[in-house]
Amino acid sequence: MELIRLLLGSLVVMISLLFFFGASCNTRKYVKTKRTDQDVEAARPAKKSRIVPWQPDWKRDVDLKDWVEKHPTAAQTAYCKYCRRNYKFSNKECLREHAKTTKHQDNINDAKLAGTFFEVVVEGPSYKERVHSHEMKLAMLMADHRVALHFIDDLLPLIKNLNEDPEAAGGMEMRQSKLIQVIHMMYTVDFEALIQILNSTFFSLLLDESTDISGIKLLCASVQYVHPVSKEIMTHLLQPIEINAKNANAEDLWDALVEFARLCGLILRKAVGMGCDNASVFLGNDNGFKVFSAK
Ligand SMILES: [Zn+2]
Repeated sequence: MELIRLLLGSLVVMISLLFFFGASCNTRKYVKTKRTDQDVEAARPAKKSRIVPWQPDWKRDVDLKDWVEKHPTAAQTAYCKYCRRNYKFSNKECLREHAKTTKHQDNINDAKLAGTFFEVVVEGPSYKERVHSHEMKLAMLMADHRVALHFIDDLLPLIKNLNEDPEAAGGMEMRQSKLIQVIHMMYTVDFEALIQILNSTFFSLLLDESTDISGIKLLCASVQYVHPVSKEIMTHLLQPIEINAKNANAEDLWDALVEFARLCGLILRKAVGMGCDNASVFLGNDNGFKVFSAK
């Protein structure tokens, strides 16, 4: 009897313990699901503040304009005129926070009392408005002259590059006649270098004949070759070669090309291929250009 009573007692104790632990677990679960918004916010990893480099428009911001100066070299550093110190910043908000500090406010008040505080007066269009105005001028120029739209991809980097030396950019003076001279001078230098490269490697000739508006027959000769240094495939126009003949047959074209090569020092033996249209003057089996070139 005593044994049964003892067993029953142990059973009651075990059941009580089970209930107790079960309730504890449920309570923990309950607490977990009942987290407040503040708990959720606190548990969330802190957001990284976005890094924004110095913007010219900050000099117009009412909270910054009177005291902030751009650091001459460091991108994420600004100078406070009244605290006389450089401050590192991630974005504009960091500089605004500096303006709220007691030390900064005291320095501003001291400067006002000493008469050394100057309020910066901002006039004229903003930085963004000025940039937009420049973009519109460029767009209008290109539209007026019907310039190919992809030209802007080269033009804008060039303008920015020229602007790195504003003194030299301001001193440029060039109209049509000078432009022609400059192009001619650069072409001459480039052409001599091209002939040197062609003579040091092998190339293909790309040929076509045409007649200009004054009735002069022209042989348009281009070359294609693998650049010996960059290993890129290059294509260059040699130049339109004038044909001094009435009918300009294949022999005339060949003679004109040989004479042109002699004058500019081009070694024609280095030409290993030829590209042209299907005209018989080039591909004729009896008296075509290819017959003379193969000799
Ligand atoms: Zn300050």
